[in-house]
Amino acid sequence: MNDTSISEPAAPAAPDLAAATPMLAQYLEIRRAYPDCLLFYRMGDFYELFFEDAITAARALSLTLTRRGKHNGEDIPLCGVPVHAAETYLARLIRLGYRVAVCEQTEDPAAAKKRGAKAVVKREVVRLITPGTLTEDSLLDAKRHNYLAALAETGGSGGAMGFAWLDLSTGEFWLQPVDPQRLGSLLARVSPGEVLVSDRFTARPEFFETFQPWKAALTPLPPSRFDSENGRRRLEALYGVKALDAFGAFGRAELAAGGALVDYVELTQKGRVPSLSTPIRIADASVMEIDPATRRNLELAESLAGERTGSLLQCIDRTLTGAGARMLAARLAAPLTDPAAIDRRLDMVAWFVADARRRETVRTALKGVGDIERALSRLGLGRGGPRDLAGLRDALGRIPDLKRAIGDGGLSGIPAGLAEAVTELGEHGVLVERLTRALGADLPLMARDGGFIAAGYTAELDELRTLRDASRKLIAELQGRYAADTKIPSLKIRHNNVLGYFIEVTQTHADKITAGAGSRFIHRQTLAGAMRFTTVELGELETKITSAADKALALELVLFEDLVKEVSARAAAIAGAARAIAALDVAAALAELAVERRYCRPVVDQSLEFVITGGRHPVVESALAEAGGTAFIANDCALAASDKRIWLLTGPNMAGKSTFLRQNALIAVLAQLGSYVPADAARIGVVDRLFSRVGAADDLARGRSTFMVEMVETATILNRATERSLVILDEIGRGTATFDGLSIAWATVEHLHEANRCRALFATHYHELTALAARLAGLACWTMRVKEWQDEVVFLHEVAPGAADRSYGIHVARLAGLPAAVIARAEEVLRKLEAGEQANAATKLADDLPLFSAARPKSGGAPGATAPSAIETALREVNPDELTPKAALEALYRLRGLLARK
Ligand code: ADP
Repeated sequence: MNDTSISEPAAPAAPDLAAATPMLAQYLEIRRAYPDCLLFYRMGDFYELFFEDAITAARALSLTLTRRGKHNGEDIPLCGVPVHAAETYLARLIRLGYRVAVCEQTEDPAAAKKRGAKAVVKREVVRLITPGTLTEDSLLDAKRHNYLAALAETGGSGGAMGFAWLDLSTGEFWLQPVDPQRLGSLLARVSPGEVLVSDRFTARPEFFETFQPWKAALTPLPPSRFDSENGRRRLEALYGVKALDAFGAFGRAELAAGGALVDYVELTQKGRVPSLSTPIRIADASVMEIDPATRRNLELAESLAGERTGSLLQCIDRTLTGAGARMLAARLAAPLTDPAAIDRRLDMVAWFVADARRRETVRTALKGVGDIERALSRLGLGRGGPRDLAGLRDALGRIPDLKRAIGDGGLSGIPAGLAEAVTELGEHGVLVERLTRALGADLPLMARDGGFIAAGYTAELDELRTLRDASRKLIAELQGRYAADTKIPSLKIRHNNVLGYFIEVTQTHADKITAGAGSRFIHRQTLAGAMRFTTVELGELETKITSAADKALALELVLFEDLVKEVSARAAAIAGAARAIAALDVAAALAELAVERRYCRPVVDQSLEFVITGGRHPVVESALAEAGGTAFIANDCALAASDKRIWLLTGPNMAGKSTFLRQNALIAVLAQLGSYVPADAARIGVVDRLFSRVGAADDLARGRSTFMVEMVETATILNRATERSLVILDEIGRGTATFDGLSIAWATVEHLHEANRCRALFATHYHELTALAARLAGLACWTMRVKEWQDEVVFLHEVAPGAADRSYGIHVARLAGLPAAVIARAEEVLRKLEAGEQANAATKLADDLPLFSAARPKSGGAPGATAPSAIETALREVNPDELTPKAALEALYRLRGLLARK
């Protein structure tokens, strides 16, 4: 993208404009200022697009391309969309990755005419629509946040990095420092619709990979936009404070990012910045780190196919409001690491689990509550309508019910989070009462359409409306009188936008009207079958009607602005209420889920254990329940740093290994986001980082083979997993030759055990690895139980101690219909292989441990003690005080011998 664009409108008025018509000159001048946007140029009831824009938009939106006038001797391509349907078209363009500048008429065409017949109506770009700055419901997904983010750094390459993001449609705003190693995880967590970066950043090779998935969302800007001093000043001005310290100790890079964000909002909204909540600073370590691959593999918010269906989020979401759904999605994206904070959320859920009646009452009150966060923001940006006010009225009107449902017994006995939510709901009685009185029953989308203020709200408006309506009655009377006078019963008084009111008779009766000089009927128009007339009387009446209607509309707009002002004055309190409603929705929804699906409350603490009794996979369990077939088989899992911290899981294909691995990772995520979990009991020592390498999917879009992807993901895990992390590894090394793969898997298990010392589940087909259990104290072998019955294999889906003795691969091949000769030959080969070298080699390898000590990593490994090497152990056993010189020499030879074996 070329960037003078959005950031710096270019100098207007180029010389070749001289040849253009005044309107075209105006168009080209505006067009030039926004080179990277499609220009929606308002002409009456249409937004028109010209030149290249027209060609692009016609193709993207399947519109008819026409031509109008000429420029430099060539036809000008043109296409347009009606203003009332513009949002649908905008939505499509934005989804396709276009940016749109909306140029409106900023004066009444009548006013322009007064300046001269050829004067062009004044026009101005009032807004730039970019993926990160949407506010319309039709352009947004109600259940997802749409974040605008900015990434900045200070001190050049290797300096500090800061990240800021906000949701323009709700006004929420966050800042945090960035560890470059975690940038990928951070982007995946926030998943912004648009990211502002300095163009210097995008040119840096070390970030190519990280930015790759976000390419379409990146908006490069000149580095000058990311100045930290400007950022500080901008934020201070925005919040009207002398120093930002009260909000948190922000680093320079964070301020630079935050400033760039606010700058950009002002630029795209043409000076209107919605009320943003004070920025919240997030510490990296307060959130469970989940890298992009893990997020994808575990299908947290999206299935591997990129859809919400089939994801964990969809499976657990029982929220009833858009804001609740967004809050749940945000929590799922960023599970916590502080047990106390997690418990606070769990307490709220527990309260709703324990009291079905209150849960029901609260959920009933929440049903149908509109999106007040987004309504509030639209009103703040001058883009709201009467329906947004009605949304506020209805939602805020539910607050007394919600408060009663939760706190009718007083707030003392209830969980802190709930008490806080009740307080945050606040008092909005006066506003609700006023909105109720002010708004009528049928509300137009736009205030300018009028007719939304209720009768009885102000006497002045009522009077104007009576006048308008009385005059309309007079028109009907006039029609009766003219029909009688002219003896034309079919005479009608009609109205259209061009002529206003007129009298219409069919051609056959026209003579009766035009007959006689001095007729009071003045001819206006002749059509094929009809003639149209007016009279002085009708003209006068029309003036009365239109002036009353105009005055009524003008007054309505004033009243609307008053209401908006009142809402804006209370914006902070309303935003607080919106947050509280979302929090209640999430807590009650998670409780509903827990009861419905028999989830239990997990214990999350600072231990290094991971003990799940009767764990289930939430998504697979739901799918099986829906299919109405077999029940899900629950399985235990028990990992502990001090004991067996790694489970090596073997078993045939389709036995349920992946399901078991994933379910435990998902249970950790659910617990730490503050949800009950699909298990009978769960005790989880808080997980700081979650890693999964599951399944094998080619990432062809990025030009990487399955095996390369697998190795990149494995490298991340081995470099970053700490003692506190939970690692899920499925089928490492399958993408290469057997010995290669086995060796990599082998060394990986050793590294996890010795260096990372994390809790891990490792599923493999390499039965040879089970030999490691004899040497690695923290490794336990588990297997998926299988029953052979009448030559059939039955998968029991039970995890049991031990190792699988067979893969049953040939068995599955037979079931799949491979020719009998091939099956027989395969069995023969297998027998030979099993009896031969390979098995021996593996046993020997295990005896030769620890291989590991030779390859201890220099850095990046986990803290914590590693097991002593054989040499160290032998050395420790030597007591020099008791040795004879000969024995000492022998000991030395022995040590040398140990060294040689390494
Ligand atoms: P593997 O990784 O061993 O090849 P999967 O985990 O993919 O096996 O499981 C294969 C299928 O078995 C799943 O799609 C699921 O339907 C079923 N399954 C797995 N685990 C269970 C379980 N605990 N209870 C019931 N069905 C299960």
